[in-house]
Amino acid sequence: KAKALGNGSYQFFEPEMSIEAKRRLTLELALPRALELGQLEVVYQPRVHLRSLRPCGMEALLRWRHPEYGPVSPLEFIPIAEERGQIEAIGAWVLHQACRFARRVNDAHGQALRVSVNVSARQLRSPDLVGHVRDALAAAGLPADCLELEITESALIEDVAGSAAILRTLKELGIKLSLDDFGTGYSSLSYLKRFPVDVLKLDRSFLNEDEHDTAFIRALVDMAHVLGLAVVAEGIETEAMLEVLHHARCDEGQGYLIARPLSVTDFERFLAG
Ligand code: C2E
Ligand code: MG
Ligand code: MG
Ligand code: MG
Repeated sequence: KAKALGNGSYQFFEPEMSIEAKRRLTLELALPRALELGQLEVVYQPRVHLRSLRPCGMEALLRWRHPEYGPVSPLEFIPIAEERGQIEAIGAWVLHQACRFARRVNDAHGQALRVSVNVSARQLRSPDLVGHVRDALAAAGLPADCLELEITESALIEDVAGSAAILRTLKELGIKLSLDDFGTGYSSLSYLKRFPVDVLKLDRSFLNEDEHDTAFIRALVDMAHVLGLAVVAEGIETEAMLEVLHHARCDEGQGYLIARPLSVTDFERFLAG
C-alpha cells in the first residue's frame, strides 16, 4: 500500500505507524509467498448428522502459520488475499487439497463424506472459479456431490442476478452449494428461493439458549425444509444447544462440542473412533 508507506519515503515502516498497521503491512508483504513456503495448511472440522452424531462431512478451514506472528486467523488474512488479488490462487489450492483429502478419507474409510469449502465474494466473481472446481474434482477423482461450496449471503447480494447465474453454472457441475453464516446479514428467506442452494448454515450467533430463539430456530428449520434445504448448525458448543437443535429438527451440525477443526492426521483419528 503506497499510502501506508508514505509518499517518497524510503522507509519500510513509518516510525509513527501503529502496531496494527505494521502487522497488516507485514502480512500483506508475506502473504504472496506463504503458499510456496508451506506456511498455509487446511484443517477440517467434522460435520455430523444430529440424530446419530455420525460424521457426514467436514469443512475445510484455512490456516496460516506465520513465522513471526504464529497462527493468523483467516478472518484477518482472507480480506488481504482478496484485496491483493491472491484469493484465486489460494482458493484453487484449498479446493485441490480439500478434494484430494475427501477422496483419500472416503477411500480409506469406505464413506461418502462431503467436504465443504468456503468461497469468498471475489472468488465467486472470478471467471476461473468453475474451471478450478472442475480441475480439483478431476485431479482428485472425487464425485461432484462430495464437494460443497459455502457462500455467504453478503457475497450474493453484491450482485443478485450475476450471482444466481454463477450458482447455476456451479450446480451444473453436480456439486452442492450452501449459504454460510445465515443469520448475520439480511437473512432473507426469499433469497433461498432465488438461489439454487442445497444447504442453509445457521450462524452460531443464532444458537443461544433463550426460549425465544428455540422457537425461532424451529420455525426457520421448518421453513428451510419446505424450501427443500438441509439445515446445518455451526458453532455448537454445549449439550443444551445440541438439545435445542435436535428439537428444532435441524439436520446436521458442527462445533467444538463435537470436534474442533482438525489436522489431517487428527481427522483420520477422529474417524477411526
Ligand atoms: P466460517 O465459514 O463461518 O467457518 C466457521 C468458523 O467457526 C471457523 O473459524 C471455525 O473454526 C469456527 N468454529 C467452529 N466451531 C466453533 C465453535 O463451536 N465455537 C466457535 N466459537 N467457533 C467455532 P475460522 O477457521 O477461524 O474461519 C473463520 C472464517 O474464515 C470462516 O468462517 C470462513 O468464512 C473464512 N475461511 C476459512 N477458511 C477459508 C478458505 O479456505 N477460503 C475462504 N474464502 N474463506 C475461509
Ligand atoms: Mg463456512
Ligand atoms: Mg464462510
Ligand atoms: Mg459460517
